[in-house]
Formats: sequence, C-alpha cells, structure tokens
Amino acid sequence: MVKPKTEEEIELLRENAIIVSKTLAEVGKWVAPGVTTAKLNEVAETFIRDHGAIPSFLGFEGFPAATCMSVNDVVVHGFPSDYVLKEGDIVSADIGTLYKGYNGDSAYTFPVGEVDAATRKLLDVTKASLYKGIEAAVAGARTGDIGYAVQSYAESFGFSVVRELEGHGLGKEMHEAPGVPNFGRRGHGARLVEGLVICIEPMINSGGRGVYVARNGWAVHTSDHRKSAHYELTVVVRRGKAEQLSTFDYIESTGK
Ligand code: MG
Ligand code: MG
Repeated sequence: MVKPKTEEEIELLRENAIIVSKTLAEVGKWVAPGVTTAKLNEVAETFIRDHGAIPSFLGFEGFPAATCMSVNDVVVHGFPSDYVLKEGDIVSADIGTLYKGYNGDSAYTFPVGEVDAATRKLLDVTKASLYKGIEAAVAGARTGDIGYAVQSYAESFGFSVVRELEGHGLGKEMHEAPGVPNFGRRGHGARLVEGLVICIEPMINSGGRGVYVARNGWAVHTSDHRKSAHYELTVVVRRGKAEQLSTFDYIESTGK
C-alpha cells in the first residue's frame, strides 16, 4: 500500500533526516587511515543518542550494530569491526534513526585518504546517479522512472547496478512500500503520489553487478570483489520537483 504522508508526518521525518545527515557528517570527520569501522560506529551511535534519537538499525531483524559500515567490496550491511581503514579504501556509512516515532535513513560513501582515479569516479558517478533518481521522483511518475534514471546514468560510465537491493518508502517503519529499484523501465512500477516519502539509494559496482551474502547472513559483497559505492537520501515526492529531507551539505562543507 503506497500511502502519502501528512505535512505533520513530513516534519517529523525531516527532523529524523537532519539528525541522520548531521550524524553522517560527524562520522565523516573521523574517516581516516588508521581508524577502525567500530570507532566510526561508536561516533555515530553517541551522536544519535546525544540528539535524543535511537539508532534504528540496532536489533533490526537481528542486526548487531547501530550502523552499517561497508568497506570496499562490501556493498551494504557490513558490520562495524576492528578492521583498520587504510589509505585508498572506501567506506559506506549507512545510518538510521528512530525519533518521535518516525525513521531516518541515509548513507554516504567516504574515501579514506587519497583514492585512485577509478575509485573517485565510482564515488562521483554513484552520487550523481542518486541525484538523477531524485530528479525523476516527481508526482505522477513511477518507480521505474527513478530506476531508469539511476541505471542509465551509472551504466553510461561502464559501472553496474546491484539488482538485489533497493530503496523504499519511509515512515513509522524503516521499510515501507513502495520498493524503489535502481534499475527499471520508464513508465513502469508503483505510481509516485504527492507527499510520498521515499529513500533512493543506488548501489553501484565498479565491476559486474553480481553480489553474494557473506556467511554472517548480512554483509553483501560484490562477486568479483571489486569496489562498490552506496549513497542514500530521503525525499518527499512533490509536483514538479522532489523535496530533499536529508542532505549531504553537512558532509560536503567539511570537504569530504
Ligand atoms: Mg540506509
Ligand atoms: Mg534505506
């Protein structure tokens, strides 16, 4: 059931989105060679709780940590660990909050120190593909229009789109209808209605699109072990142009 939100609900989702956006920026300040992903998780969890919110991923379907920290060939759902980040790595931080009964959910892939040109390109194209998806998320369009926009852009650079995971509606539940795939056909899929709040989250691989789930049942890896990037923002579907609730402005003002 695809259900738009009231303006009151949208304001609560906006409060969550701002906490998540600021948490990502806080994590970004710590990303550097020599830092563990467990430390990044601790920074995020502390920041979320200090703002009166709950890290919604902790315990979600049994997930063991407050955040997902996915390094290099891990697409999403990586466990924070004692892995020490090194120069040239990339780490995707996916952060969720529960605050005043509503959810926040956004993600950003950070370069660790200097990354090679091919990796920089993967990050730039994945982030840009997210904005292409947001441009397509207007009232009257369909989820397939978003997927088409993301896919056609990412593939034009020779990258590939993970098909097994997708964006989603957001509200009192972290994952609500509709599913928002990062591939698709224009004019197909669920209708986007004004006031619908969705997370768009392209997962783009530098190599092939194949993925597998690790034995821990969570971490999704690329089959060819090449790098994968993931960016996620929350938007409200509006007439003419979607309204962004979460933002990377707090991160990018620090130069990451
Ligand atoms: Mg997320
Ligand atoms: Mg999400």
